[in-house]
Amino acid sequence: MSALLQARNIARTYKLGSGASLRAVDGVSLELARGETLAVVGESGCGKSTLGRLLMGFDRPDRGEILFDGQDMAKRSSREQRVLRRQIQMVFQDSASAFNPRWTIGSALAEPFRIHKRPWSRQSLEALLDRVGLSGAFVDRYPGALSGGQRQRLNIARAIALSPRLIVADEPVSALDVSVQAQIVNLLRQLQADLDLACLFISHDLAVVRQISDRIAVMYLGAIVEEGETLSLLASPSHPYTRALVDAVPQPGKPLGAPLQGDVPSPLFPPNGCRFHTRCPVAQRRCSTERPELEARQGHRRVACHFPLM
Ligand code: SF4
Repeated sequence: MSALLQARNIARTYKLGSGASLRAVDGVSLELARGETLAVVGESGCGKSTLGRLLMGFDRPDRGEILFDGQDMAKRSSREQRVLRRQIQMVFQDSASAFNPRWTIGSALAEPFRIHKRPWSRQSLEALLDRVGLSGAFVDRYPGALSGGQRQRLNIARAIALSPRLIVADEPVSALDVSVQAQIVNLLRQLQADLDLACLFISHDLAVVRQISDRIAVMYLGAIVEEGETLSLLASPSHPYTRALVDAVPQPGKPLGAPLQGDVPSPLFPPNGCRFHTRCPVAQRRCSTERPELEARQGHRRVACHFPLM
């Protein structure tokens, strides 16, 4: 598969009012193929949403480059940037605030067409609603009349309105009930298959990620610590942090693993050496002084650990 999206060693640091520096993303490289789903997982504050914003073009990395279809996004002309913005769309977690409550659903759905000066009709808006499992009659209603799951369907309808090639979905089901989560995940999978859509799926929930992703990248304190094919990575994690995340997912007939000790260190003062060493159950002396590189291992796996579990 050829890469649709490539990030090469990107980093983003924010200067805070106190003068401190927060390195939210620290040297991330990844690839996403056409039609593929890559899940980015990790605890809150690990930098996964900042990574999503950088890949969307909402913010710029202060190091590294991002290529879409082989071309550096930062070096495109303004006309090319406009075309690019049509090809990458975002689905947010908070579907309630994604819509102006005073706009009808039809107006909300027509917004991307207006912004990008593309033609639309009432029929095309109704067809979009139908595509995400909503009645075309909703065109004249208001978002406040929808349930959370219906609003997320509407959010997805707006994201696919301009036939994008990549969706960045940031915790798109975490605010929904479990039964509704499964419906939205199934909808995303169906749309991906029908429209040959690639998806970067940002989530803290490995149970959800298992259902939708082809590959998983695990982030800790701004960096990817392990990446691999979903089923293989979940069955046999190589990085101790991935192991802890997997063991924390309830599974029938299997006791939960021991919870990770300690809190996530502040990204303002990340530990030296391996950033996970303050919580790692198998850390050794070398881990506190030498930062491990993300290195290729067997079976399309990449792992950043001096003493991988396999
Ligand atoms: Fe644990 Fe050391 Fe591997 Fe870091 S490098 S994950 S501290 S074993």
